[in-house]
Amino acid sequence: MGKDELLSEHTDERFSDSEDDSTDKRVLCPICPHACRLKPGQTGICGARHAVDGRVVPANYGKVTAVALDPIEKKPLVHFLPGSMVLSVGSYGCNLNCPFCQNNTIARARFDHLDVPVESISPQDLVEMACEQQAHGNIGLAYTYNEPLVGLEFVLDCSRLIREADMKNILVSNGYINAEHFTELLPWLDAANIDLKAFNQDFYDWVGAPKGLETVKQSIAAAAASIHVEVTTLIIPGRNDFPDQLDDMARWLASVDPDITLHLTRFFPTHRMRDANPTPLQTLHELAAVARQHLRYVEVGNI
Ligand code: SF4
Repeated sequence: MGKDELLSEHTDERFSDSEDDSTDKRVLCPICPHACRLKPGQTGICGARHAVDGRVVPANYGKVTAVALDPIEKKPLVHFLPGSMVLSVGSYGCNLNCPFCQNNTIARARFDHLDVPVESISPQDLVEMACEQQAHGNIGLAYTYNEPLVGLEFVLDCSRLIREADMKNILVSNGYINAEHFTELLPWLDAANIDLKAFNQDFYDWVGAPKGLETVKQSIAAAAASIHVEVTTLIIPGRNDFPDQLDDMARWLASVDPDITLHLTRFFPTHRMRDANPTPLQTLHELAAVARQHLRYVEVGNI
């Protein structure tokens, strides 16, 4: 599907460049490399941001599709406060279009055709909920399930309040965000799990992410320089299960920080890949052995 087809006729305000084409009043969303230029009322590729009154605003601000108190290992994070729980919250929308998405219902939901139940909640109320859950082991908030960064403003507002409450902020993200906006969020984060979907741009092209590999590498490196980072790669047979690419990926991650934990997770048929085979366990273990030549911590998951 072409970029123009992904933009729709419907589409918040702090993150909107004032680039204003005098002929058609389009405004630029600067959040991610898609660089959507939206006409009034149009929704961006992510389905979560739209153009209103000459600005691009996050339509999914405070719109929550899922809240759960999860073990931190489920994010997955295995070397950040192990054994703790974290209140995990998701909205809708995503700036990638992965055929194998395990959360496609909320990831593909769009502001202009919203077909998932949402609850409205303010950052203050969500943080109050997080504080109440401390009695059950909660350490803070995890922004997860859909792609949180397409709703960056909500994540920022919650993160500041969580920090004031002396709790932790955890991000689970595809890392597909422009560096200047990720840099704005990083001081508020404590830990992140970032997907590195493959170590070649062809794969990122397949999931609808022009410049994806370089952008995500930049996000991982920036995050690793200031917070605890773990990385996840979903291994899909015939798509990214190549030992030489895993070797290159692990070598690069080790150059960033040899203590980064790499999670190699198992694919199961879902979404637009219901006819594909699950990842053989042997493949996962063989790739983990390749990655362990460079990294101290390699986990095999979702098995
Ligand atoms: S965050 Fe959404 S609207 Fe903004 S550039 Fe990316 S896909 Fe487009």
